[in-house]
Amino acid sequence: MLNIDVEKCTGCGLCVKVCPFDAMKIVNEKAEANEACTLCGACVKVCPVDALFIERKRVDPSKFKDYKGVWVWAEQINGKLRNVALELLGKGRELADKLGEPLCAILLGSNVGELSNILAQNGADIVYVSDQEILTHYTTDAYTDVISALILTEKPNIVLFGATANGRDLGPRIAARLQLGLTADCTGLDIDDKRQLVQTRPAFGGNIMASILSPYTRPQMATVRPNVFKPLKDAGKQTEIRDVAIEVNKAAVHTKIVDTIVEIEEGALKVDEADMVVSCGRGIKTPENIEVVGELASELNAALGGSRPIVDQGWMKHHQQVGQSGRTIAPKLYIACGISGAIQHLVGMRTSDTIVAINNDPDAPIFQVADFSIVGDLFRVVPAIVKELKRVKAQK
Ligand SMILES: Cc1cc2nc3c(=O)[nH]c(=O)nc-3n(C[C@H](O)[C@H](O)[C@H](O)COP(=O)(O)OP(=O)(O)OC[C@H]3O[C@@H](n4cnc5c(N)ncnc54)[C@H](O)[C@@H]3O)c2cc1C
Repeated sequence: MLNIDVEKCTGCGLCVKVCPFDAMKIVNEKAEANEACTLCGACVKVCPVDALFIERKRVDPSKFKDYKGVWVWAEQINGKLRNVALELLGKGRELADKLGEPLCAILLGSNVGELSNILAQNGADIVYVSDQEILTHYTTDAYTDVISALILTEKPNIVLFGATANGRDLGPRIAARLQLGLTADCTGLDIDDKRQLVQTRPAFGGNIMASILSPYTRPQMATVRPNVFKPLKDAGKQTEIRDVAIEVNKAAVHTKIVDTIVEIEEGALKVDEADMVVSCGRGIKTPENIEVVGELASELNAALGGSRPIVDQGWMKHHQQVGQSGRTIAPKLYIACGISGAIQHLVGMRTSDTIVAINNDPDAPIFQVADFSIVGDLFRVVPAIVKELKRVKAQK
């Protein structure tokens, strides 16, 4: 909270000038902050009479040792674990081993006990299970209540959430309730020599990678992008299952799931799960031409994706967008057709095993990350590849 000492404030207006969010104004010769204030602290630094100060929760560093364990929220939907939960257990195992602390999964749902076995196979030392009917579907209130209460009693050191729609909702809600820091959308995690979690994420439109610490509060919390880390294969751990005895107060849950609409058809290939992805960018020129690239995708049995302009123009759905503000993907094969390779696109696909780029500009940045670069007109190159694929298939 930003506190303003009106006795000291001279109404000089310096805070108004430096505020990047237009959150400060001078009323009756005194500074005032509005709801746009993000507690960035720019005004505090410039105030010549120390009239501004921010009250932040700080845990006494000597108490940090009381916080132990790397926790992963094991998100499930309709009784199926999200891949990102397993990816986070893979990375969490490495972090927990570096710290010499246990790796724990938090599983909420109804009749989800069986999923504990999968979490055990993926490296969890302990699985906390809260099995209640009210937790069948994700709701912000119920999930926040259970996990916040568990954090307060068990005191983990680190809590990780997948940056899925629900994880992006839940992580910040818990952080706000417990007055903790949270780094959103991380693409890298590590432990530094002071045993702190180093949380790396793209900043300033993806042009730099920022390494962020949470030096004042515990647990350290982050949401992490799917497809950045790899799950462990058969960790073969002895796992302890702990039932969580926290009952959700039904009256405190303000939402009710009335209906669910599945955006991606059952069985359809998703860009963030498929082994092969073929994407097109602005080089495709018109929505009708997407069919040219679509044919290559269906010939390969690959998912069809696109760069942001293609999605912004409504030519593809958002779940098909590859990149910083879309999906992060790591398929075995990624074919980029008519995509320039802006940094915001690259951060979403550069972990693909093999990258093929087709572009008529030999200087296109996409060629810097491509394993196979085809300089040419996609309207000639792509049909030629499709023709060859068909010929090879017919021979077989
Ligand atoms: C905060 C932020 C988030 C963003 N998030 C994303 C994101 O998630 N995903 C994303 O993709 N972008 C994102 N962007 C946008 C990004 O900066 C680029 O503008 C975008 O990726 C460009 O898309 P493109 O490569 O399709 O188009 P262009 O940059 O216009 O490139 C088109 C390419 O097609 C080639 N071409 C043209 N005709 C042909 C042809 N006949 N044959 C072969 N090649 C041809 C051209 O040489 C060119 O290289 C984001 C931007 C910001 C600021």
